[in-house]
Amino acid sequence: MSLIRHHIDGAPTGDAERRSPVYNPATGEVQHEVALASEAEVAQAIAAARAALPAWRATSLIKRADVFFRLRQLLKERTPEIAAVVTSEHGKVLSDAAGEISRGIENVEFAAGLVHLLKGERSEQVAGGVDVHSVKQPVGVVGAITPFNFPVMVPLWMVASAIACGNTVVLKPSEKDPSASVLLATLFEEAGLPAGVLNVVHGDKVAVDAILDSPDVDAVSFVGSTPIAKTIYQRASANGKRVQALGGAKNHMVVMPDADVEAAADAAVSAAYGSAGERCMAVSVLVAVGDVADDLVAGIARRIDDLTIGDGTDAASEMGPLITREHRDRVASYVTGATTEGATVVVDGTTKAFDGDGFFIGVSLLDHVQPGMKAYDDEIFGPVLSVVRVDTYDEAVALVNANRYGNGVAIFTRDGGTSRQFEFDIEVGMVGVNVPIPVPIGAYSFGGWKDSLFGDAHIYGPESVHFYTRSKVVTTRWPDHTPSQVDLGFPSNH
Ligand code: NAD
Repeated sequence: MSLIRHHIDGAPTGDAERRSPVYNPATGEVQHEVALASEAEVAQAIAAARAALPAWRATSLIKRADVFFRLRQLLKERTPEIAAVVTSEHGKVLSDAAGEISRGIENVEFAAGLVHLLKGERSEQVAGGVDVHSVKQPVGVVGAITPFNFPVMVPLWMVASAIACGNTVVLKPSEKDPSASVLLATLFEEAGLPAGVLNVVHGDKVAVDAILDSPDVDAVSFVGSTPIAKTIYQRASANGKRVQALGGAKNHMVVMPDADVEAAADAAVSAAYGSAGERCMAVSVLVAVGDVADDLVAGIARRIDDLTIGDGTDAASEMGPLITREHRDRVASYVTGATTEGATVVVDGTTKAFDGDGFFIGVSLLDHVQPGMKAYDDEIFGPVLSVVRVDTYDEAVALVNANRYGNGVAIFTRDGGTSRQFEFDIEVGMVGVNVPIPVPIGAYSFGGWKDSLFGDAHIYGPESVHFYTRSKVVTTRWPDHTPSQVDLGFPSNH
């Protein structure tokens, strides 16, 4: 069984006193072990990043951009190989793995425009003979901590912009599917990134806490579940770091009575069960407004019959297994407990039989779900769609706005006025209009509201340039022929 090691200063590193199993979720077998970093190993990675910082931040913008142009090409050419690594440890189907790689490439493309992104501002003659300009300089060493569900895309959300802005990085990926991050680091280096600029340490709370507590880490980007996001935000900001911590979600899809029911049913099935529901932008609550509910529920149930669930490497599979056996059992408990809470189980995926020991579960559809039921209140993060029936648009908006999460939301309607009002009313960071998974393209930033994000900067896109740089403002006067004099008053430009 191979050992997945840290990648520090361009080389595999670590004596791996502590290890954790890495499963193939489709077979249930342990295929690798991953090293769990000690505090000393994390310190070694941070030291490598700190040592690489002066040369990297001094590297010309054109040379930095070159790395991203080459990386983009490598990621495109080697997508099948990277997707295979993702599928073997995460379980998602190969086409879905390729999809996350292509969305991650958008962040690389954005970063390749760094010459434009890092432009400052300049004002001439703010006072007699005085000019002012601003520059964007790197924050320093960035800690990047990522979840299991997008082992390529989410690291690229962070590291592409952080490195483009002249920072160096210590990436701590999920210990459940760690190989993709190491592969990413080697591809970055193949594209010309100097050793030490991007380091990968594997691990658990020990490694994360070592990043959060190190005085040599200047900023922390985190993506994961809400309870962890909140503690990361609190601990890292108490240590004086710049922090963005993206948390969990409960994404609602509101279907108005005038919507195209067949298109809405297709969208709901795709967005609820794609990647086995293990997407932070998955639709997990369908809000049926008025008399659309019966047709919609029937349409979704009909489509569920046709879904093919199996090993992600099988081209026929549309949905793979869940990430672990424990998570599969936790997801199942929401379905088995739904009836006692008063919901109707329209399709029970927990009874579906699968060969072998993979972490598979069928997809489930719950109807007549209400706030206060566990299936509504918790983020299930599996292939379970809950239908909440309401009578009016106002009730739908009130339901969404009362939810503690605010990551994504969608409305399905044919009415432009309703959609415009929804955009105005809804307290959620990313909104789709007849688009069920409104993940912004790389030129915009991604982020939720409320318990879906702690901090004030969204991730990737323009807000990431702000997050990963410090602005410096320079006020300049060159000698002129005006006689100087002492003046103890506060500088005035009038
Ligand atoms: P998680 O919170 O369990 O783990 C995320 C990271 O934190 C991992 O690297 C993990 O090793 C580390 N970690 C776990 N427990 C820790 C602890 N006690 N102290 C310090 N670090 C700890 O999340 P996950 O299960 O890997 O991923 C799924 C979650 O991520 C879901 O809640 C999903 O909604 C969320 N997510 C959110 C977004 C978003 O953009 N908002 C994107 C993807 C995933």
